[in-house]
Amino acid sequence: MGAFGKDFTSLMAFSRYSDNQWQTPSLQPLDDFKLTPASHVLHYASTCFEGLKAYRWADGRIRLFRYRDNIKRLRASAKALCLPIPDEALLDTMIKQAVLAVESEIPDLPKSLYIRPTLIGTETNIGAAGRASSEAYLYIMTSPVGDYFSGGIRPLKLLIDELNMRSTPTFGQVKTGGNYAAALSSVIRAREQYGADQVLYCPQGNVQETGAANFFVLKSKTLITKKLDGSILPGITRDSIMQLAENQGFEVVERDFTVKELISWLPESEAFLSGTAAVISPVGHLIHNNKTHAVGNGEIGQHTLAFRKQLTDIQHGQAEDNNSWITVIS
Ligand SMILES: *Cc1c(COP(=O)(O)O)cnc(C)c1O
Repeated sequence: MGAFGKDFTSLMAFSRYSDNQWQTPSLQPLDDFKLTPASHVLHYASTCFEGLKAYRWADGRIRLFRYRDNIKRLRASAKALCLPIPDEALLDTMIKQAVLAVESEIPDLPKSLYIRPTLIGTETNIGAAGRASSEAYLYIMTSPVGDYFSGGIRPLKLLIDELNMRSTPTFGQVKTGGNYAAALSSVIRAREQYGADQVLYCPQGNVQETGAANFFVLKSKTLITKKLDGSILPGITRDSIMQLAENQGFEVVERDFTVKELISWLPESEAFLSGTAAVISPVGHLIHNNKTHAVGNGEIGQHTLAFRKQLTDIQHGQAEDNNSWITVIS
């Protein structure tokens, strides 16, 4: 098993949309497929995706975590991109089909199977810049992944960026390729010029999220994250952490906050990122106007680690699933 994102299983679930309907999904080798150079997606970025995981618990059976929420979000992304919206039932079938087809390739815990549903506009028409693609491919790739932190957890260093935006005020909630393309140059610059791991986008001084993860601050017993307003991705990990924290008596506050407020909180706070791939990543330092500010003492926060353990314990069957987040599929 190599780096995250480069090793795939042997099969994917595939369906094609044309003549106003989805074809019956099939299993295909996860291999090159044909796409004309004039495909809508290659010119006008009609593409969206999801990311979720399947786990092989100690009893050998395979479970998904909150996958219906990924289905809902993919459908919302498809709608925003004017792509054909796959039915919930089709996505449900294809996700399970893709996972069960490679069941023998799913590693034991703490490894898992990363699942990447992808929807692209395939109409052959470079004249369709201002029109929806009438054809599409939907495919579900899978990739065995290790424990993100097998090499040890290291607190991240984020660059606060008040100039660039990773998306627009309404498109930030869409899991679409264009948003990562828009963020890329600022992420590369942050890495090269500041040695930062990620950029924390804070247009006009308002804290949003990083290029691919939601951002949290924990200030004594209050957990703060930006409210969903269309500009940030409605993360499923984000929502799970908020529910777990609330159940443990933390005050959970979804609200807008500024860079100035954030910096004033740092000495007595913890901060972390959330997303499916890494679950929770501690943040140790924030760079702002060429000055590096430690979050707390700059080390991994104890509550951050506890939240991470609580969530992965549920995902791995080592803690009670009181929210019905787990679905057994084999
Ligand atoms: C995928 C993603 C997240 C995290 O979402 P999860 O559902 O928790 O995996 C956060 N921000 C962005 C920009 C993302 O693309």
